[in-house]
Amino acid sequence: MSQRKREPIIVVLSAPSGSGKTTIVRELLKQVDGMARSVSCTTRSPRAGEVDGEDYIFVTEEDFVRMRDNGDFLEWEENFGNYYGTLREQVENLLDKGLDIIMSIDVKGARTAKKEYPESVSVFVMPPSMRELEARLRQRRTDADRQVEIRLRESKQEVAASDEYDFLVVNNKLDEAVEELKQVIERERQNRDKINKKAGA
Ligand code: 5GP
Repeated sequence: MSQRKREPIIVVLSAPSGSGKTTIVRELLKQVDGMARSVSCTTRSPRAGEVDGEDYIFVTEEDFVRMRDNGDFLEWEENFGNYYGTLREQVENLLDKGLDIIMSIDVKGARTAKKEYPESVSVFVMPPSMRELEARLRQRRTDADRQVEIRLRESKQEVAASDEYDFLVVNNKLDEAVEELKQVIERERQNRDKINKKAGA
């Protein structure tokens, strides 16, 4: 891959839980060079198969509150009774390395991230339908029924905010959704390269 001399791109990605966002991001990172994801801190317990430091940094509530009060998070939110936050230093380190970043965060966090990084590109991943989303949430079997209901309600609210985003990607088929996201990133890279050239960088 050629050396790029431009400002890195920050992609802020939101999607209702159960919309397949984790798989999309995993696939995307396999296929796109020069991109990394920010690994959020959370007080939620790990789901089966989740790895500490890879999927999330799993912390206690006490630790989270200490970090939050210390200003360690560029944004943080409470979701479903747990805290989630993006570590400022981690993001800055990735940016310093010239990597493009993808941040997978909720709608409220995305608003804060967009204020912090106005040049970021926001993408909302739509589930094919609410019925499909419910089926996926129930299939997951990691959340109790009550949790599924809560997540569904929250998802409806998130979908209602989707028009705030720069791009929408519908996750009908994984391959197609990944391809669309790749195109968004590639176009953005090309745009910024052009701007750089104009500026004589
Ligand atoms: P889950 O528990 O299903 O992994 O995530 C629940 C919600 O929290 C999802 O909408 C996810 O995008 C969001 N989330 C994950 N990490 C962060 C974060 O660092 N900040 C914010 N604001 N939301 C996050």
